[in-house]
Amino acid sequence: MLRVGVNGYGTIGKRVADAVAAQPDMEVAGVAKTTPNFEAEAAHRRGYPVHAAREDRRDAFDDAGVPVAGDLDDLVVESDIVVDCTPAGIGAENRAVYERHDTPALYQGGEDADVADASFNARANYDEVAASDAEHVRVVSCNTTGLSRVLAPLDEQYGVEKARATLVRRGGDPSQPDRGPINDILPDPVTVPSHHGPDVNTVLPDLAVDTMGVTVPATLMHLHSVNVTLETEAEAAAVAETLTDESRVFLVPGDARVAGPAHLKEYAQDAGRPRGDLWENCVWAESIAVEGRDLYFFQAIHQESDVVPENVDAIRAVCTDTEAAESVVETNRALGVGF
Ligand code: NAD
Repeated sequence: MLRVGVNGYGTIGKRVADAVAAQPDMEVAGVAKTTPNFEAEAAHRRGYPVHAAREDRRDAFDDAGVPVAGDLDDLVVESDIVVDCTPAGIGAENRAVYERHDTPALYQGGEDADVADASFNARANYDEVAASDAEHVRVVSCNTTGLSRVLAPLDEQYGVEKARATLVRRGGDPSQPDRGPINDILPDPVTVPSHHGPDVNTVLPDLAVDTMGVTVPATLMHLHSVNVTLETEAEAAAVAETLTDESRVFLVPGDARVAGPAHLKEYAQDAGRPRGDLWENCVWAESIAVEGRDLYFFQAIHQESDVVPENVDAIRAVCTDTEAAESVVETNRALGVGF
């Protein structure tokens, strides 16, 4: 049984902890948090040993009545691997703690790529990361995960001459009342191309991809407008089949009448998904169009959860000899990925 510590128990950390707990070969060694807020209380209620991420905050946990199992060092010692889910930039500071205990660690996409020895997406480069013996690995961001999951199979099947994507990004997560914009549409970043294309190249180094970002007043999901110039001609139906074969791509059927992310989230909740999570890329089947070698489609990406199965696979890639296909099947089965 792999013992997995989760440092940072917010949007991503709480989902990673639950996903780890659902795996037959893993258990949660504990979680670490800085603040004894409602999420710390929920972690305790779920039975995860709660650690104070900073020694000077330990009294605050006592005052709040959240039992503390130890500090961050204790959690790292208890763990075979730590999944760092702290806010962007903190993971880089934490690497020294993990190294001090010789404990492998995963980092999230908010960190710069150089925080780790390798970046990871299961569909793009599981085998390379597993073979590299890298012990510090960054799971790429929600948007990069969403792009990699479709561009890898398209490149394998048809060859990608050039991919272009406009990422219409949610302003903040539903639990972030301080984010925005409230009433605007922002080129974000205003410089073109955006950093997302180079981030795809951390897991698919040879792929030609340019991206632009726009941030809008929405919280539910990101929406990608994707245009790929293929190396060979393809029928739209064949592309749809290629994407249907991907276990982490959900081809949204036209007759489902899904207008946008609000319907997708409602569907996930109706399906009984935890937190209404959508671990899969949601590609509108009707949007898939090909003109010559130019492919177009829309996909929605649930930023809070698409990286969660990727973190589980990255744990196996770093800590075990499990092969990519086996890990993905196991992760999907344990979580219930796929509609
Ligand atoms: P979050 O703010 O929801 O959660 C971070 C948690 O870490 C909070 O519970 C916070 O209290 C805690 N924390 C803060 N400082 C800490 C410290 N020093 N030690 C331990 N815990 C600390 O953030 P998030 O959205 O879960 O993002 C975490 C990482 O995942 C970031 O790198 C982010 O870029 C990346 N990511 C976020 C999303 C998303 O949409 N939310 C998607 C993909 C990747």
